[in-house]
Amino acid sequence: MELKGSTALITGASRGIGRAIALYLAELGAQVAVNYASSEDDAHEVVELIKNKGGRAVAIKADVADVQDVESMFGKVLNEFGDLHILVNNAGINRDGLLIRMKQEDWDAVLDTNLRGVYNCSKEAARIMIRKRRGKIINISSVVGVSGNAGQSNYAAAKAGIIGFSKAIARELAPRNIQVNVVAPGFIKTDMTDRLPERVKQEMLNQIPLGRYGKPNEVAYIVGFLASDKSQYITGQVIHVDGGMIM
Ligand code: NAD
Repeated sequence: MELKGSTALITGASRGIGRAIALYLAELGAQVAVNYASSEDDAHEVVELIKNKGGRAVAIKADVADVQDVESMFGKVLNEFGDLHILVNNAGINRDGLLIRMKQEDWDAVLDTNLRGVYNCSKEAARIMIRKRRGKIINISSVVGVSGNAGQSNYAAAKAGIIGFSKAIARELAPRNIQVNVVAPGFIKTDMTDRLPERVKQEMLNQIPLGRYGKPNEVAYIVGFLASDKSQYITGQVIHVDGGMIM
């Protein structure tokens, strides 16, 4: 599997799953744009790690929910690398709470970053990819978007929205040789899940047939495959990386 000659943009790549994806795509030979919202030092560390191994990478600050930020980010990617072949919509947040107590701002923040952000970035990427009749868009959803989860109605709505959105644009973009797929991780050990109370973590663990949490790398490997030309005949699919939580 090789990504030499490809350029990839990964949103929210300063840590966690996005960081693992950025490092793995670079290891496969891609030039990588590392998007971050605020963690500048972490993003530069990812870039340095890639450069130290002989790769090319650049860190780009942008809030994916902000359309002007996103337009400027895609401009910077084109300035730096001249093209874009792979977009990984990974940036995501959670603001958990039961429905009757959920604040409007928590609903809006999660939908804005997790769903509007995917729309903003996919639209910009599609404009570039359509001209070249080549591209891969990989959207990071969640098992929660398929099964739901009490206390995460905003997150589940956004993650389910990503699946419907991806299937719709997979159909739109298929005639232009652009493949759009979704990766739905289960419980992956990152900052996002480390914050959960021990009780919730244990409940999650009990639901995982493989009996352990996933690692960011285990999500990155399938993204690498979907970003490569080994997956040319796969589009509109949801691939679960969840230790068997969803069967
Ligand atoms: P994380 O909190 O460690 O990382 C999320 C990244 O997104 C951070 O770098 C953050 O700065 C960035 N980000 C947040 N808002 C942003 C914005 N508006 N613009 C640009 N970047 C922004 O989380 P993670 O666990 O690595 O999650 C990565 C993705 O995987 C998310 O979409 C998350 O919903 C999804 N996911 C995670 C798990 C899990 O168990 N960790 C499970 C299923 C899905």
